[in-house]
Amino acid sequence: MKRLVVISGPAGVGKGTLVKMLLERNEDFTASVSCTTRAPRVGEIDGTHYFFITKERFEEKIAEDGFLEYDRHFDNYYGTPKDFVLKTLKEKNVILEIEVNGAMQVKKAYPKTMLVMIVPPSLEELKERLIQRNSETEETLAKRLARVDYELSFCKQYDFVIVNDDLESAYQALLKTIKQ
Ligand code: 5GP
Repeated sequence: MKRLVVISGPAGVGKGTLVKMLLERNEDFTASVSCTTRAPRVGEIDGTHYFFITKERFEEKIAEDGFLEYDRHFDNYYGTPKDFVLKTLKEKNVILEIEVNGAMQVKKAYPKTMLVMIVPPSLEELKERLIQRNSETEETLAKRLARVDYELSFCKQYDFVIVNDDLESAYQALLKTIKQ
């Protein structure tokens, strides 16, 4: 059995970039592709970024016990397919880039899971960036900002916390952490 690693962090912290670097530079790691009911964003490919499925299909999969974990996040479901992860773990380390509620479920079911939280060097700067790039309503923005605090409030329950100050240094810290 290889290692299962969860990577979480608030929106805009750069966790997606770090995971991409990790996958590109390390053949012994693979990422799970999650299922979601949210609509694809421009450039997202079904089966690569997510499996984009309907709410009905997602709920069927919950009933079939098809998820390792799942959560409702901003009115959409997100979940990790159980089959893929358990099968892949026989040969490769698996990375799950998921939010904190899902991370807690995985740790409970598989206590050996390594939980890594990526945090920003400055909370104010991160929030300012989210405000600048926000294209939504005031209410959605308020929810997103509150969500940043919520995600970060879970730091103590994570095995490792990495500050994404300089991208390459954060990547090296992440690599060292998960290979130890
Ligand atoms: P986005 O809609 O921006 O792609 O993702 C929103 C949040 O959902 C991110 O924090 C992302 O890490 C998380 N997420 C993506 N896939 C899963 C999943 O399978 N399970 C859970 N619990 N969260 C997920």
